Order: sequence, then structure tokens, then C-alpha cells
Amino acid sequence: MGGVSARLDDLPLRADLRGQQPYGAPQAPLPVALNVNENTHPVPQEVADDILDSIALALRDVNRYPDREFTALREGFATYLGHGLTRDQIWAANGSNEVLQHLLQAFAGPGRTAFGFGPTYSMYPLLTRGTGAEWVVGTRGADYAIDAEDAASQVADAAPDVVFLCSPNNPTGTPVGLDVIEAVYEASRGIVIVDEAYFEFAPREERSALTLLPGRERLVVSRTMSKAFAFAGARVGYLAADPAVIDALRLVRLPYHLSALTQAAASAALRHAPVMLRMVEEIVAQRDRISATVEALGYTAHESWTNFVLFGGVDQPAATWRALYDRGVLIRDVGIPHHLRVTAGTEEETTAFLDALASVGSAA
Ligand SMILES: *Cc1c(COP(=O)(O)O)cnc(C)c1O
Repeated sequence: MGGVSARLDDLPLRADLRGQQPYGAPQAPLPVALNVNENTHPVPQEVADDILDSIALALRDVNRYPDREFTALREGFATYLGHGLTRDQIWAANGSNEVLQHLLQAFAGPGRTAFGFGPTYSMYPLLTRGTGAEWVVGTRGADYAIDAEDAASQVADAAPDVVFLCSPNNPTGTPVGLDVIEAVYEASRGIVIVDEAYFEFAPREERSALTLLPGRERLVVSRTMSKAFAFAGARVGYLAADPAVIDALRLVRLPYHLSALTQAAASAALRHAPVMLRMVEEIVAQRDRISATVEALGYTAHESWTNFVLFGGVDQPAATWRALYDRGVLIRDVGIPHHLRVTAGTEEETTAFLDALASVGSAA
């Protein structure tokens, strides 16, 4: 090949992919990484030992394809979620991003549309366009809140095939009321996906959209092990829905998409759910500490039911982001003017961020 590489434009790329940018949150080896909402607490040793034993057992049969229906894992998710769910209502894949991709492959695709209220999770448009569908963005009210009546009328007007409701929302942290979900469902004819990636960080007494599933065959509630469960590197996401939705997803998934090692690791982690989740309250405490401290520094913190805080009043977000980077702290510029987003870390990481931000001193 003579060492000369072609450019993207030289390839017979799909016309609708030309000019698109890939997902690109920086992966820099900084001491304090608070940019992609991971759980920065490692998996507890006792659970890691059990996971390793389970993987060792699965390795003995790794010459064979895994259980295509990942039956034991679906059973584990049904038990973890509760609400009387059974395994025929559960689906899983390599991260909830793949779960969402399966939904879009089955229910979006060329000539169809998917809809979300911006600003919201940056992967929704990317995954939507990847299936050849069009992304349609709706609007939010004051402080990024969604009002039931307004949401229903926007969805009725757009008549999308798929609606995303990120609850609570990334990158803003904003809660979404169950009344909004009910109203959007009534106003639509398509699949309504409630993405509860951060649900475990919401106030304890809050009801999940899982309680709305009975009688709503177009409603889907997706979750992930990447955030509260401290399992981002294992890549496991899942959803609950009507068994007919699960049948639709079987049409588009790759055969044996969940490896035997992933199934074994995730099932083992689920057996220790209370231990895996025991850092959630500590993370929520650090989140609330971030909100209070950035306010004291002269910024505005948006209400958050997640493990991160979006704060405004940043004079020059790019410059502040860079100044923090130079101090060894990686956070996220999500492209909202005068805002930055930071993940709640361990107490030490959170202190490092807050000290660095105070030393930068750039509140508008
Ligand atoms: C992090 C996140 C996910 C999870 O992605 P995985 O593929 O499971 O790691 C899903 N939805 C939202 C809104 C997120 O922020």
C-alpha cells in the first residue's frame, strides 16, 4: 500500500454518513477523570473474586457458542428490577448503547424518525442516523424541565416512530415526571423509550417508569450496569418491555451477541447487587457537595438526580476546561454555552476538582 492512506471522502461511504463526527469524549490518562459519568469506585474485592470464579467456569465451555437467549442473565435482571417482571420481558446487550441500537434497528431505520428533547444524550442522534433514520429534536422549558402538556403536543406534531425520554436527563441531570411519560405515550403512536441510565441516583422514594409498563406495549425502560453498578468496562445494558418488543429485537441482534464471559461476569455481579450499589449514597453526597460548592464559587448548579452536575455561569467553558485539564482534572464540555459538566467522583477526586476549579476562578 506504500504507506499512503485514503481519506474518508475517497471511500464509497453512505451519503448520509458523509460529514458526520464519531462519538469522541476524550480518553486522556489524567489522575482525576470525571468526564463520562463512570462510577469511579472500583468493584469491591469480594465481588471481583466471585466474578473471576464465574468467568473461569464459563471459560471451560468457551469452545462452544454461548446461550443465545442469555436466560440466566435475563432471570437475574428480572429479579433485580422487581415490579413482578419476568425474563420474557427482559433484553440485554453490550452496553445500553447496543440495546438502544437494537431498538432503533427494529423500530426506526430509513424513512423513519426518532425524537428527543434537547439538550439530551449525544448518542441518540448518532445511533438514530446509524440506522438511516432522521433525528428530530424538541425543546425544553425553563431549567431544561419538560412539561407534560407541551411535551405531548410536540410529540403529536412530530409523530415520530421512536421517542427518547432520558430520565433523569444527561447532560443536564433534570428529572422527568411520570406524568410526562404517560402524556408522551398517549400522544404518540411509536415506541417510547425511557432511558433510566441514572435511575439509582434519583431520590429513594421516586417511582420508576417500570411501574407504567402494564398495559403499555409500546413503552420500553432501559437501564445500564455502567453507572451505579460500577461496570462500565464490562459493557452490559438491559431493558424491560412487553415480550413482543423483545421478539422484535431478536430480529436485528447478531446471533450470540452477548459473550459467555460477559454473561458470566454480569450474572455474578448481579448476585451481589447490594454490594455493587453500596457506593451510590456516597456518590450522591459528593454530587450534592459539588452543587453547593460551585454555587458558593459563583456558578449556577442545575438540579441533578444523577451522578453528575451541569453548572452554568462559566465565562469561557473551553478555557476553563483546559485550565482544569492542565491541573490533572478531566471534565466535560458538552457544548452548552457557558456550561460544563462534571461527574461526582470519590471524596478525594471531588476535592481535587473543586480545589482546581476554585484556583481557576472564572465564574462570569
Ligand atoms: C452512560 C449512558 C448510557 C449507558 O451507556 P452504556 O452503553 O450502557 O455504557 C445510556 N444512556 C445515557 C443517557 C447515558 O448517559
